[in-house]
Amino acid sequence: MTLIADLVSLHQVDSQARALRTRLDSAEHFLAIQERQRVQLGGRLEELKSQARQHQATAANHEAESGSVKARIETLRTQLNTSTNPKQYAAVLNELKLLQNKRDEIDNLTIAQLLKVDEVKAKLTEVDRQLAERTTVRDGGKAELNTCRSEVGTRLSELDRERSIAAQRIPKHDLETFTRAADLYEGEAMAELVAVDARRREYVCGACNMELPPEKYAALVSNPNVAVTCTSCHRILFLAEVSSIVS
Ligand SMILES: [Zn+2]
Repeated sequence: MTLIADLVSLHQVDSQARALRTRLDSAEHFLAIQERQRVQLGGRLEELKSQARQHQATAANHEAESGSVKARIETLRTQLNTSTNPKQYAAVLNELKLLQNKRDEIDNLTIAQLLKVDEVKAKLTEVDRQLAERTTVRDGGKAELNTCRSEVGTRLSELDRERSIAAQRIPKHDLETFTRAADLYEGEAMAELVAVDARRREYVCGACNMELPPEKYAALVSNPNVAVTCTSCHRILFLAEVSSIVS
């Protein structure tokens, strides 16, 4: 076989292998994104839980403080009822008023904390819902990846094997040119040299449609053991006859 025919053979297995690998890669990529989002949501969930606990604890402290103030108020009320000295009565009454104000303030703080707890819990519910949703999507992605692996896996290793056999026949320099173009054009490393008007010697690249100098055609016809590339896109050119011989 000529170099060009060998390159066309390589292209056939290489492009198939790349297409399958792309499918596998996108399934893996999709799953990785879902996992990352799940981790972020999980972190957010823990953060909110900790906030809720903090607000609850602060509320409980306020409640306890309010309770001890209440006990003191009750003691003072008893004193007030049994007080016979007007001066002492006035002092107790004054302290009672101050304590009542203080208790109101503490109770307001408690209410504010409990409102915050409710607020955080509402956020928690929402993040929990998002997490469940993301988990469902993640599980779908996992199943898709498994299907993909079982469908693609065997075929891909076959193609990889065929590819390396086909690549062994290609000289290093040409293989580099091929791989560069294949990487650049998602596996489309080769392009047919198309004769638009053979009599007028008008040729174009079948991939990028740019005009090619007639020397490219002449070179391909005269020596099919030298790789000729498109001036514009640098894909390796072949003639239609070659591809029909190979396939
Ligand atoms: Zn081209």
